Amino acid sequence: MHLPDHEFVKPATLADSLALLRSASGEIKLIAGGTDVVYNMRGRLFQPDILLSVRDLAELQGVADTTAGGIRIGAGIRLTDLEHEPRVAAYPALVTAGRAVASRHVRNMATLGGNLCLDTRCWYTNQTAEWRQAKGPCLKNGVAVCHAIKSASVCVALNASDIAPALIALNADITLANVDGERRLPLTDFYTDDGVTHTIRDADELLVAIDLPAPSGRTVFIKETARKGNDFSYAVIAAGGEVAGQRVTGLRIVLGCLTTRPLSLQEPVRIIETRGLTDEAIDVAAAAARDELGPLTNLYTPAAYKSSLARSLVRQALRELRDATP
Ligand SMILES: Cc1cc2nc3c(=O)[nH]c(=O)nc-3n(C[C@H](O)[C@H](O)[C@H](O)COP(=O)(O)OP(=O)(O)OC[C@H]3O[C@@H](n4cnc5c(N)ncnc54)[C@H](O)[C@@H]3O)c2cc1C
Repeated sequence: MHLPDHEFVKPATLADSLALLRSASGEIKLIAGGTDVVYNMRGRLFQPDILLSVRDLAELQGVADTTAGGIRIGAGIRLTDLEHEPRVAAYPALVTAGRAVASRHVRNMATLGGNLCLDTRCWYTNQTAEWRQAKGPCLKNGVAVCHAIKSASVCVALNASDIAPALIALNADITLANVDGERRLPLTDFYTDDGVTHTIRDADELLVAIDLPAPSGRTVFIKETARKGNDFSYAVIAAGGEVAGQRVTGLRIVLGCLTTRPLSLQEPVRIIETRGLTDEAIDVAAAAARDELGPLTNLYTPAAYKSSLARSLVRQALRELRDATP
């Protein structure tokens, strides 16, 4: 299917892009690698007046050391380059998560910023425009109807990013810029519980960089999907912490691709930090995860399966965290 009519602009600098974002009249959509935007435009999920390409902005490229001992990654880095960047090798969960996205061909186009800003999807939005037309519009089109979960009053479309949970488990910050300046915030605070406005990014802002603290402790990342090598996830999990035998401090457990935002688990963390990484405590923590998931859509798999998948992933991740070679 052809793309809907639009104007395509590709400013040469970040400053020009931000100025355009502030001043443009009509709906404007950012495009980086385009691996998701183009697909969604073909499906008529959105029909912007202007596509603003940030793909080759020099200010969004590269990886640099920070004075805090960590690294700053440009939001425009291609996933293939992320995978091979020597400084990123010190963050194995990020490397594994980056490699888990789609296929080599897609990763050659796709960017880290695009992955973190990925539009949410659900069982209804995944259908063709004609199919959706027969059903009628939904919360994403401004009407108070959800076709995925009939009783939902807010959009429950999923955050499908594989990489966001890994970065949150690594305590990443992000930097957003507009013509007035920059703001930095923890990546976990970027996402909301509403699948329509699923990030706190203002319309005139661009994601420019991701900051990671100095590498420390252990991290794990696991992706569960139907096919290895070119598929969105049923669910992902990332976990990290300072592990000494069965004791762990600073534990983070983040589930992804199950809810509108990457979900940082609270009670399972409390259980493990109190009781340690024993098999028994891990089982209790895994069982506690379900209470924090909220409503689960049936995109890709039945909701009941997702619920047991979350439990199993928490168990697997905690065991890996305990048993990994220091
Ligand atoms: C066959 C296939 C399989 C896929 N499998 C996976 C998968 O397994 N896991 C996964 O996570 N994803 C998957 N994807 C989705 C997508 O390819 C990746 O998430 C990719 O990283 C998106 O990056 P992009 O640069 O192409 O984003 P784009 O499509 O260019 O943009 C995605 C969104 O981000 C916004 N955006 C882009 N850059 C910025 C910026 N700098 N600041 C603010 N907003 C920005 C865009 O406006 C848009 O809303 C798959 C896609 C396809 C086609």
